[in-house]
Amino acid sequence: MERARKLIPGGVNSPVRAFRGVGGSPRFIERGSGCRLFDVDGNSYIDYVCSWGPLILGHCFPPVMDAIRSVVETGTSFGAPTEREIELAEEITSAVPSMEMVRLVNSGTEATMSALRVARGFTGRDLTIKFEGCYHGHVDSLLVKAGSGMATLGIADTAGVPRAFAETTLALPYNSVEALEAAFTAHGNEIAAVIVEPVVGNMGCVPPLPGYLQAMQALCNKHGALLIFDEVMTGFRVSFGGAQELYGIRPDLSTFGKVIGGGLPIAAYGGRADIMSRVAPSGNIYQAGTLSGNPLAVASGLAMLRYLKTHKEVYQQIDRAAARITEAAPEGVTVNRVGSMFTFFFGTGPVTGWDTAKSADTARFNAFFHHLLENGVYLPPSQFEAGFVSAAHDEAAVDTTVQAIRSFR
Ligand SMILES: *Cc1c(COP(=O)(O)O)cnc(C)c1O
Repeated sequence: MERARKLIPGGVNSPVRAFRGVGGSPRFIERGSGCRLFDVDGNSYIDYVCSWGPLILGHCFPPVMDAIRSVVETGTSFGAPTEREIELAEEITSAVPSMEMVRLVNSGTEATMSALRVARGFTGRDLTIKFEGCYHGHVDSLLVKAGSGMATLGIADTAGVPRAFAETTLALPYNSVEALEAAFTAHGNEIAAVIVEPVVGNMGCVPPLPGYLQAMQALCNKHGALLIFDEVMTGFRVSFGGAQELYGIRPDLSTFGKVIGGGLPIAAYGGRADIMSRVAPSGNIYQAGTLSGNPLAVASGLAMLRYLKTHKEVYQQIDRAAARITEAAPEGVTVNRVGSMFTFFFGTGPVTGWDTAKSADTARFNAFFHHLLENGVYLPPSQFEAGFVSAAHDEAAVDTTVQAIRSFR
């Protein structure tokens, strides 16, 4: 870690990986296998970070590894179309009916940045509504009251974002229909899009209240704003068709990432064909990428989605495992869980948005995190992140986890 800190800010290549406390600093990982991580010091951990969501089938899942191996010998990048890109687009659009057309990019950040540009280009409007505690990647105009690492580090508004960019964003409390109505009443015909994590993962797991997403869709329709579901975390995670399948909503645009790459860097944005047809080269909204649709990432994602499509029982299995883990919660802890996404909130009542999430006892959470780490269980190191279960978390791993949770004092 000392070597890393000299050369890499904070010693990590993404802030959420950093932590401090009685159990020390970040572990350097040598390899992963199934539900386990192995560090360079010879320790192993049952992994509930799962690379922050992508590894829904665990580390080194054989069909994904085989797919990567089978294409690596044919070249790593061509900068020209390949047939597998069509196949991946077919898998995504058939799993998620609102995705009539899709463009592949390299990260969730790129997907949300592009979806926002498309929404602005299509509507000819500039303003965006987002929600406090939601994180949509490190897009300038979306780093306003953002969750994830910004929430953890207590950075309300990052340096480096021009005020003019931040002013194009209205940040509202999540789960408040009244706040949304008021914003539309004040700015209705200037709002290009509402972007939301349909189930929030980035202030810890926070589900939508009944009827909230439906009200959001109705308000967007009424005022001519586009509804963007940021499903980078929830896509192919809370169900095969994502949160939009789970809650029965058809957004205008959606973004995907994490699970769709099977652990390689790939993401996607897409939605209504009349909107996506406006993207260059078929339209005048510009978006591009040298490595977009990278052959290794596409092969990995394709293997992942095809396996999930033919093994949907995986979702019941991981949901059950997550239920067993959350049922072991210490007394007085608030548990939020949607499928295999979960968070233990310490020292607070029901958590329905950032106002309630931020009152959590982060010192107590930190003690819990380090207790589990010492017992070989690796949770996300922040109160404001969701944990994930994979299909590789077998009964024995879950039993060990439950015991570790129960032994926390
Ligand atoms: C992780 C995440 C992103 C950003 O994706 P990156 O690949 O890290 O850029 C965007 N939105 C949501 C909801 C996420 O969970």
